[in-house]
Amino acid sequence: MQRLVDETAIQQRVRELGEQLSEVYRDRPLTVVGVLTGCMLFLADLVRVIDTPHRIGVVHASSYRGKTTTAGDLRVDTNLLPDIRDRDVLIIDDIFDTGKTIEKLVESLKTFEPRSIRTAVLLVKEGRSEVAIAPDFHCFEIPDAFVIGYGLDYNDDYRHLPFIGVLDDPQA
Ligand code: 5GP
Ligand code: MG
Repeated sequence: MQRLVDETAIQQRVRELGEQLSEVYRDRPLTVVGVLTGCMLFLADLVRVIDTPHRIGVVHASSYRGKTTTAGDLRVDTNLLPDIRDRDVLIIDDIFDTGKTIEKLVESLKTFEPRSIRTAVLLVKEGRSEVAIAPDFHCFEIPDAFVIGYGLDYNDDYRHLPFIGVLDDPQA
């Protein structure tokens, strides 16, 4: 396995983002909404360095990925979402690849009438976006490779790793 972003770099960048978000959302009614399951490590580290009171909620997004993946194949489950009406929502996801997941999540959460919606992702893959929106905040831009670790999985393995890696042979 090749290491793409090590633990120290992640922790430092997450801390910087937390400081930035603390100013953006100072004295605002913030709800941080994590996208399960990939958000877990990023969410847990980030909320501990957002130095202004906020609520935490989660949604679940799932997709059937493959050659025919379209927006219609994405499902967003909002059963665990707390009330976000008139609140400032910050969606937290692991990675922005084609952007279809984030686009769908923003559309879905808008129906709950929050005061604002912004998005923050750990990783953005260069040159892959297929949508008109971009994340409002991100930690790292990475080349187009399949990455694992720090919440990201391959067949549900590797999520617990504290760094971002690229598998040499995902089939192995
Ligand atoms: P998008 O909708 O932006 O194309 O894809 C976003 C979702 O696809 C992410 O939330 C993640 O679940 C999955 N994904 C995209 N690229 C990768 C990757 O390189 N590694 C892993 N583990 N998941 C990815
Ligand atoms: Mg995901």
